[in-house]
Amino acid sequence: SPQFVPNNELISYRKQHLGKSLSLQYKVPIKMVRGDGVWLIDQQGKKYLDTVNNVAHVGHEHSAVVKAGQEQMALLNTNSRYLHENINELAQELIETLPPELNVLHFVNSGSEANELAIRMVKATTGQRDIIASEIGYHGNSNMCIDISSYKFDGKGGSGAPEHTHIFPLPDAFRGKYRGDDAGEQYAAEVQKCIDTIHQKERGVGALIVEPIISCGGQVELPQGFLEKAYERVRNAGGLCISDEVQVGCGRVGKTFWGFQLHNVTPDIVTIGKPLGNGHPIAAVACTQEVADAFANGMEYFNTFGGNPVSCAIATAVLRTVKREKLQENALEVGEYLKTELQQLAQEFPIIGDVRGQGLFLGFELVDSEMNPLADQTSYLANRMKEHGILMSTDGPDHNVLKIKPPIVFSKENAQDLITYLQKILKEDFMKTH
Ligand code: PMP
Repeated sequence: SPQFVPNNELISYRKQHLGKSLSLQYKVPIKMVRGDGVWLIDQQGKKYLDTVNNVAHVGHEHSAVVKAGQEQMALLNTNSRYLHENINELAQELIETLPPELNVLHFVNSGSEANELAIRMVKATTGQRDIIASEIGYHGNSNMCIDISSYKFDGKGGSGAPEHTHIFPLPDAFRGKYRGDDAGEQYAAEVQKCIDTIHQKERGVGALIVEPIISCGGQVELPQGFLEKAYERVRNAGGLCISDEVQVGCGRVGKTFWGFQLHNVTPDIVTIGKPLGNGHPIAAVACTQEVADAFANGMEYFNTFGGNPVSCAIATAVLRTVKREKLQENALEVGEYLKTELQQLAQEFPIIGDVRGQGLFLGFELVDSEMNPLADQTSYLANRMKEHGILMSTDGPDHNVLKIKPPIVFSKENAQDLITYLQKILKEDFMKTH
């Protein structure tokens, strides 16, 4: 068996020589050595059920995806200035899933790069640079992406919204600013306020960027009617609408292939990341002919790695696997089953204040009887689940949301195991607050 470097040595080397703001998951960090479907396997051979990784979309190390990458890597990898079938085939696979208006693709290497490019397209198309985004939204790690990510600039180490960013309140109908039946309209009116602010400054609207389910905000589903009304207002003001599908795209939400399709809207730009390469760095921007034409203003767009034959072979294999294995249908079926089971658990344990999400992009929130967030219990639950071999992640502005976004090969049996252990740990003394 291979000689492993002890974890304490890996940790001390990291602390000294790797980025100082990188974080490690869990109080006692784990080292994974292998992935297999919904499982991650650590150096002792212990298997963990992965309910976190929406990057390993069709399952960790899916054989069809690995094979596609290996075969193309053995043959050729170059930039996209040469003709190649793979980039066209991948574009075609994506176009088949999108509304007819969204039929031009640019390939990049990460979700951040996709959103970065989307904002450049907005500037080229509208001539404006004012962006409207959600509170606690996250759109990536580059300069521009941080500038539109309230999750970062309103958090530790941040210094608030830049001049050209306009934030509307997290459209959370459970504990947010508006909670009633009219929440969709009320949050859309907040978007209008951002538009009015931009106009008062004698500038125009560039774009609205929103995730169809706000992930870092705590798996927040957009209230009924919100997106439709917000898009309408932004468009009336001459702005574009971007759907950030980096987390939720490619079949995960079950009912539809893309998150925006849960609502009655068609964006001008869609950004696609994480799941597209099943772990390999490839991302994409889909846009209309009009946006693509405006962006092609004479300056070449060159991206060394974006759209290379290896990445495209991998992403095409991912999309074909989703189709072949009917994984969108699986996300719907298993997701609805799991959501119902979680709702039943919420009946039994009132500490679960809200269960939400679509398909295999779910979340539940822990609160006390006065709706106060319970961050300690949330962290305890995630750490105890890990001890039982189940990986979960936590998020939300108050760190009290458990997120469930596993590879979409997640089965009913996996869901049952998850529920069994949640039930066991929810009974523990630390979880008793009522
Ligand atoms: N958009 C959203 C919604 C994301 O969650 C992320 C990453 N968590 C990004 C963009 C940035 O993607 P990447 O980390 O691949 O640059």
